[in-house]
Amino acid sequence: MDIQEWEQRHTDAFYNVKEALPYLEGMFVAYNSNIDAIKHLTDKELSRLIGFFKETEIQERVETYPREIKDPLDFMARLLISMREGKAAEIPAHTSDIHEWLKEHMGFDYARMGGQAGIISNLLAYLELKKVVAYIPWLSEEQAEYFVASDNLLHPKVEGETVTLKRPQEAFKPGIESKVNWIFEYSKDLEVTCNGIKFKVPRDNRLIISSRPKWLRLDMDREVYEHLDSLLPIDGAILSGYQMIKEQYEDGSTYKDYVANSVKVIEKLKSLNPELRIHVELTSIQNRLIRKAILTEIVAKHVHSLGLDTVEVANALNVLGHEELSYSVIKKEENGIMSLYQGAVQLLKDLSLERVHVHSLGFYICILAKGHPLTLKEHRDSLLFSSTLAAAKALNGKIENLAEAEAGLEVPVSNKGLEDLENFKLYCIGRKLCTPEESEYGYLYGPDHDAVLIPSKVVDKPKATVGIGDAISAGAFTAMLAKMKQKRAGK
Ligand code: ADP
Repeated sequence: MDIQEWEQRHTDAFYNVKEALPYLEGMFVAYNSNIDAIKHLTDKELSRLIGFFKETEIQERVETYPREIKDPLDFMARLLISMREGKAAEIPAHTSDIHEWLKEHMGFDYARMGGQAGIISNLLAYLELKKVVAYIPWLSEEQAEYFVASDNLLHPKVEGETVTLKRPQEAFKPGIESKVNWIFEYSKDLEVTCNGIKFKVPRDNRLIISSRPKWLRLDMDREVYEHLDSLLPIDGAILSGYQMIKEQYEDGSTYKDYVANSVKVIEKLKSLNPELRIHVELTSIQNRLIRKAILTEIVAKHVHSLGLDTVEVANALNVLGHEELSYSVIKKEENGIMSLYQGAVQLLKDLSLERVHVHSLGFYICILAKGHPLTLKEHRDSLLFSSTLAAAKALNGKIENLAEAEAGLEVPVSNKGLEDLENFKLYCIGRKLCTPEESEYGYLYGPDHDAVLIPSKVVDKPKATVGIGDAISAGAFTAMLAKMKQKRAGK
């Protein structure tokens, strides 16, 4: 495959999608946002942190592999595990104790918008969409300040029985606490010594402590639900944050209540606009019961599109009973891309979806149900557009307008990604899944599904990595909807 060709395709796709974006009337984005407190750990700071504990106790705690942060030692243990593997991790904390401890003992470098829905709302507003309606059930005054202050980003404000759309800064709920997540970033080659064990961090990554206060509920205010029509017109909804759902709550409610309510919201949205498309963005969900419930009860049959990364593909397959496939996705061996493709196809089928978009470092795969109104070229443009967004975000750490998004075009297409696709091509042609010509275009016309595979642009030394996955999924889904609207308008 010719890398130059893929560069040109990226450029053409960017301008194509940019032209289509004004056809969108509005996007709805819910539910999760938080404030991210970011700390980049230097070797000195890491040693200082380790110094707060007895090293033998850290080692003992590492061995218990804590799944939530109950005390500072849990945090220290999970930080070392994450560093040793160079693997991102997100671990919940249910009280604010660790927040207080970290503020006192470490402090942060800076704070910014966090949470998928928060990040996506801001991105879409910056992409100059006519209207983005965000909905965050726990929008505090402080949290509202992290939303873009512009007239195309609105949030429902409940006053008595009326619901109006206002800027988030005028729509917050007074007197509620803010949800603050801590993000500890660390760099490749950082040397770690603890209790006589020495290692070098294999790659840049991060550990997130996500705050899950007891009052947090993934739900919609009754008034907003009853007046959902006040959000219209909207063409699509991007829903995320379902990982916040807990099995049981102290007030006796259970995950079943919140799953049922979420489905009601989805169904009501669809009834208000039968053309509306719903995308769910998945992230890692530790609890298998919740993971399965989200997939089989919220996503399956109710939503159209699912976005996820490779680890989440493996996790999803695992709870859906495809252990072997899940294992081969996670192993990421030479033929990892084949397993990933098969896994994504399986998700499309098991969950009765219209579209599954998997992003990996260097390439994206999008599986499509037959009968989609767009051509594979139009889907490919949507993916390429999102690759440019990802590149812009990695390059500059932010995208605050379309010109900044366009800067992503300067980033080269990943050689490694292209190589992975070459491997896939051989597999495909060998099994007669596609012709050599189709694979040059990145297309696959299957018997019961179609697929688009693109190599993506990858920044060598990214300025930031958090939220890139969200930008990819939201960017591609929004681009796809814009192309659909443009097509419907006969343009
Ligand atoms: P997050 O939730 O932080 O967005 P994900 O794992 O969901 O993390 O998504 C990360 C995605 O971002 C990867 O799949 C990859 O496609 C993209 N990405 C990561 N690093 C870079 C980079 N340096 N340049 C371009 N894209 C990147």
